[in-house]
Amino acid sequence: MRSILKKEQVFEEVNGGILLPRCILCKEVPKLGIAEGFLLTGQFVCSGCEQKLLTLNYDDPAYNIMVHKLKDVIYGSKKSSKQVRKE
Ligand SMILES: [Zn+2]
Repeated sequence: MRSILKKEQVFEEVNGGILLPRCILCKEVPKLGIAEGFLLTGQFVCSGCEQKLLTLNYDDPAYNIMVHKLKDVIYGSKKSSKQVRKE
């Protein structure tokens, strides 16, 4: 498996080389790919999670978990651009 983005594996190679994005929140790979969600600072969020975010109440713990994950993505990606050593 090869990744086209170096920092995080956003796109998943499936069925003979088709690249589909993997949602950073639920880790699902939507069948319609990028059409089923949106990219946020280079990371993919599927439409299912987008809907959850829009419909969840702000005092719902599930909402807080998702917002924290999104914050990690938004602020983490800026930080990790200089320190990407994982090996
Ligand atoms: Zn998702």
